[in-house]
Amino acid sequence: MIDNQLAELLYLAFILSTTILLIYTTLSILKLKKPEEESEVTPITLLRCSSCGYEKTRRFKEGDYVGLVDQGTMCPRCGKPMVVHAIYVEGESELISMTLFKKRRRKK
Ligand SMILES: [Zn+2]
Repeated sequence: MIDNQLAELLYLAFILSTTILLIYTTLSILKLKKPEEESEVTPITLLRCSSCGYEKTRRFKEGDYVGLVDQGTMCPRCGKPMVVHAIYVEGESELISMTLFKKRRRKK
């Protein structure tokens, strides 16, 4: 009888520790994932010359938006100011310019 109870207790302890381990593992995975999502991404701004189509990229600057005429960046071919054509994060094919702006505004 005592042996049976001991076995039951051991079984229960085993189940309990497995559950705790599982919860702990899940939590640590979630904790590991979070900073990755919130980590500072460096968006790239793609500039295109409206007259000759020359394209160049640079790091995203605060205030950049698609359609902005960047008076500070001149086209090396024809000397005209370049227009922000796209804003994206390296490694991601999808353009997320709108999402980025919403996020940045929310932070303030
Ligand atoms: Zn040009």
